[in-house]
Amino acid sequence: MSKYIEVLDYTQQHNVTLIAVSKTKPNEAILEKYNQGQRIFGENRVQELAAKHTALPKDIQWHLIGHLQSNKVKYIAPFVTLIHSVESLKLLKEINKQALKNNRVIDCLLQMHIAEEATKFGMSKANAEELLQSEMYSNFKNIRICGVMGMATFTSDEHQVRQEFKNLKGIFDALKSNYFGGLSHFKEISMGMSGDYKIAIEEGSTMVRVGSLIFGSRF
Ligand SMILES: *Cc1c(COP(=O)(O)O)cnc(C)c1O
Repeated sequence: MSKYIEVLDYTQQHNVTLIAVSKTKPNEAILEKYNQGQRIFGENRVQELAAKHTALPKDIQWHLIGHLQSNKVKYIAPFVTLIHSVESLKLLKEINKQALKNNRVIDCLLQMHIAEEATKFGMSKANAEELLQSEMYSNFKNIRICGVMGMATFTSDEHQVRQEFKNLKGIFDALKSNYFGGLSHFKEISMGMSGDYKIAIEEGSTMVRVGSLIFGSRF
């Protein structure tokens, strides 16, 4: 059985959405998974995402999972399905503006900083609360926050990874009860990659972002 089918079966058994992370991979590799039924792909660079969107079948749902600069939102706003990497009010303001221009509502996740490493992007829980309490946010009509995203520390210490996922689940639960009570669209916890998706699922992930395990390693 191919790795892809193995991961897909596992996620389906756990009611978790599989995002096939196709960054750096050629269109043919994406089409191969598409022909096996995969429709959700994740990319971390705006230009690459836009080029692949243009070239590949239009029923693919594209997720932006990497760092997003405000001045690049316009390139993906017409078609992106979910932006996982919102980490400031300023960025959200631009997404709202570009979504309005395209007459759409764009779904977003708040990227939380849960890893030990200082290099990983994301907000603290306090940052997220400040954003959600702001008057500016309350006036955004063209974005919808559907949950949180986080990346665990790159370590072989499973205990640490698990703790970081537990932390993200705790932040999700707190934000849900304090800011999204009764709003059924706030439901996603995007956590788990090739090396840790099973731990993430045990800790409550609803979306895993798996790349190298199903496409082979990136060089
Ligand atoms: C590259 C990437 C992934 C997938 O990583 P793999 O280890 O190849 O599964 C997941 N999430 C983000 C944000 C990424 O940049």
